Amino acid sequence: MPYGERSHGVKGRIEFYYDYFETQDLEVVIGLLRILADDSYMDNNYCPCGSGLKEKKCHGQKLLNLKNLLPQTDYIKIYDKIFNYYYEATKAFPKMVCVRKERMKEIKKLKRRRNVRKA
Ligand SMILES: [Zn+2]
Repeated sequence: MPYGERSHGVKGRIEFYYDYFETQDLEVVIGLLRILADDSYMDNNYCPCGSGLKEKKCHGQKLLNLKNLLPQTDYIKIYDKIFNYYYEATKAFPKMVCVRKERMKEIKKLKRRRNVRKA
């Protein structure tokens, strides 16, 4: 397990991103992490935090700093964990995230795994 204790891992990670991105909105964290998971940072895209600013004038530098910290594959895992946490907590998909087919499949897989654990 790369992130230590599993039960505390996701929550701790979310706290970290709340602090780091200076937000208390999990959807914003998901929107920003998605850029790292998809490696889709673009200076002139609008920042997913909803500020109305371009990424480079908003969370851009913070995203680029994170991008240098871990490989994209790690951000895919982190994104999926936090995305799933959001889904488990709300039973809904984050509004600002465009849900792609692969993500839907991931969620179905995770739900199946969870059901197996419960049984
Ligand atoms: Zn922003």
